[in-house]
Amino acid sequence: MKPNIVVIGSLNMDMVVQAPRLPAKGETILGQSVQFVPGGKGANQAIGLARLGAQVAMIGRVGEDLFGGELLSSLQAGGVDSTGVKKTASSDTGAAFIVLAQGDNSIIVVPGANAHCTPADIDAQMALIEKADIVLMQMETPLETVTYAAKVAKQLQKTVILNPAPAQKLPPELLACVDAITPNETELSLLAEGQGSLEEQMDALLAQGVRKVIATLGSQGVAYKEEGKPLQRIAGYRVPVVDTTGAGDAFNAGFAYALGCGQSLGEAIAFANKVAAISVGRFGAQEGMPSLDEVTQFSE
Ligand code: ATP
Repeated sequence: MKPNIVVIGSLNMDMVVQAPRLPAKGETILGQSVQFVPGGKGANQAIGLARLGAQVAMIGRVGEDLFGGELLSSLQAGGVDSTGVKKTASSDTGAAFIVLAQGDNSIIVVPGANAHCTPADIDAQMALIEKADIVLMQMETPLETVTYAAKVAKQLQKTVILNPAPAQKLPPELLACVDAITPNETELSLLAEGQGSLEEQMDALLAQGVRKVIATLGSQGVAYKEEGKPLQRIAGYRVPVVDTTGAGDAFNAGFAYALGCGQSLGEAIAFANKVAAISVGRFGAQEGMPSLDEVTQFSE
């Protein structure tokens, strides 16, 4: 049985420029190349899930422009049901302007149409949520919409996974509806208001009603904790790193997929750790997402 997962989140066109260095204020420099690649945390995670073999539908917004059309086509080509992605006339498709220079990067994200994904969009796509086992969200969609969707999903007894990226404070009414939260260290520290050790920060989230806290620690792997159980750790794989963009997205896709297949929390995290390790060895957030066969065959 394929897990049925709805991703509520962002779709962006990433414009990736390679340059010899970052330009100084007021300066114009010549770059070496520009690539236009589909991105956005929501779309990346949806594509990652589809590549693993999940049945995936996405809810979000693009503009009525060229990029919007391209992002919808790329979702469909990746095997994602895009009927829940609405075109909005009042805004352009979301975009990320990324300059890569000698290992440094600078990024400007313009949310555009993503900022127009409203609670009414969730109501309009209730049939997709009703069919799903899991609802997976990030924070590139308005907080009001994420909070509303989490409440609706909880009422329907769906498993709610929240990847709280980019970092921002979250209201207790949202956290109370979250089954599993997957912050990186920066996000965890902000959510826990920087208090204490890693475990104390995780406890602070458990105290707010989140059922499982999964902290991703980059090359160090993952730490996780459930209410009343001891902290557990899974080491990161030692792999050659090509591009860590989208490591978190690969992790969330792997985690949601494995949970949807009925794996235990520990098994699902171990699976996600593998999916993310494979993705860091490849270029591109979406291109780097592995298939199920690749994950099964992976060894350090
Ligand atoms: P990003 O913002 O780059 O997408 P993130 O900050 O959300 O990532 P990280 O904690 O950096 O998330 O990475 C997510 C997961 O990816 C880690 O828990 C680990 O499983 C895997 N990972 C990341 N970097 C490495 C690495 N250098 N080697 C092996 N695994 C890695």
